[in-house]
Amino acid sequence: MLAEIKGLNEECGIFGVWGHPDAAQLTYYGLHSLQHRGQEGTGIVVSDGKTLKGVKGEGLVSEIFTTEAMTKLTGSAAIGHVRYATAGGGGYENVQPLLFHSQSGSLALAHNGNLVNANSLKHQLETQGSIFQTSSDTEVLAHLIRRSGYPHLNDRVKNALSMLKGAYAYLIMTETELMVALDPHGLRPLSLGLLGDAYVVASETCAFDVVGAEYIREIMPGELLIINENGLTSERFAVSTTKAICMMEYVYFSRPDSNIHGINVHTARKSLGKRLALEAPIDADVVTGVPDSSISAAIGYAEEAGIPYEMGLIKNRYVGRTFIQPSQSLREQGVKMKLSAVRGVVEGKRVVMVDDSIVRGTTSRRIVSLLKEAGATEVHVVISSPPIKNPCFYGIDTSTKEELIASDKSVEEIRQLIGADSLTFLTVDGMMHALGQEGTNGYCLGCFTGNYPTEIYPDTLQYYYQK
Ligand code: SF4
Repeated sequence: MLAEIKGLNEECGIFGVWGHPDAAQLTYYGLHSLQHRGQEGTGIVVSDGKTLKGVKGEGLVSEIFTTEAMTKLTGSAAIGHVRYATAGGGGYENVQPLLFHSQSGSLALAHNGNLVNANSLKHQLETQGSIFQTSSDTEVLAHLIRRSGYPHLNDRVKNALSMLKGAYAYLIMTETELMVALDPHGLRPLSLGLLGDAYVVASETCAFDVVGAEYIREIMPGELLIINENGLTSERFAVSTTKAICMMEYVYFSRPDSNIHGINVHTARKSLGKRLALEAPIDADVVTGVPDSSISAAIGYAEEAGIPYEMGLIKNRYVGRTFIQPSQSLREQGVKMKLSAVRGVVEGKRVVMVDDSIVRGTTSRRIVSLLKEAGATEVHVVISSPPIKNPCFYGIDTSTKEELIASDKSVEEIRQLIGADSLTFLTVDGMMHALGQEGTNGYCLGCFTGNYPTEIYPDTLQYYYQK
């Protein structure tokens, strides 16, 4: 599905390099491959060992990092960020990496995820005299690091991280060090790679392939990696950790050529589709997937069901982002601009339309009607994940609870609203089975089940239920 029109958005992607003369260029390519994780703003900060310098702006990687901008980014270490704004909103000041200068040195921060106790920490810090430059929850970490009483930076960072709750993958860079931290649940993906003698860190492994780096391993929940002239050391900042990777990374967000926990995302989606075919066998003529993220699941469904997979929907890749406006009516128009049904494929056919998820339902309704207008005699919608009934507090913009169509409607009510001939969602058990898992341990399924891996703070709940 198309993130911009669906109302389901990843918040960020991060990429870092340590020890390479072309650190900024590598970060550019890395961020380019992570562009699907955020299109609203991007930035790179480099270190030449003495100072930190950055370039950032609102727009795509290819728009912000012009040839002229890149010539300013010299140094052998860099961190970069692509942003989709929800918590704290948009605006230039919230584009990351955030860069702080003080008498004791500089610090750059890039964050993927969302803190669930940001508001209460901000309140405490402001009471103690902190003045925030941004409305982003990322800045909280910088203030906590500065206010920590420990003499060494490593200890200050560990002390600050231990106060955070929620989802966070952080890159923290000073003039002489790169630190990499992942929250105690490992909610967002983060991996380490090697390019010659240089260390590379990325939200998704697809970025390693693009820059030619070799995958080494994933960052562990509660781990702080410190990379400097002495090499790499691994420390812990959380004693108790329970892995809970976001299931939506497999279902929808990550690129199909990325691997998470050793499972290729395309292969995982194909398995979800196969499982769906077993749970929802349908007498139909063709199977089609909603481009791009549902294609893998549609191929899996078709293979298992023995029904031909056809390209019944085409994505128009040349529609500018200016067409994608936040209002609902324009969002629906955006669907028309971005997707076309292929009459020659669907006319007179009973179509199985595979999609990865339904958020508000308006996009699904529009796609069903596109297929019917193109002559499909029946449109059966099958979804390769369970109904999204609850908001996400960890950095995925799944809308408020009341905007989620499945929060208060039955499957039959949703079917009627989207105008499909049938509608089936994958079960939670089926989803875990498709990933080769016995139970739900190791995964966050909060938006499907309402069981979240962390405590949710009252101010966060209020924000997501009323925003
Ligand atoms: S609540 Fe849903 S979208 Fe959010 S981290 Fe958990 S699985 Fe991912």
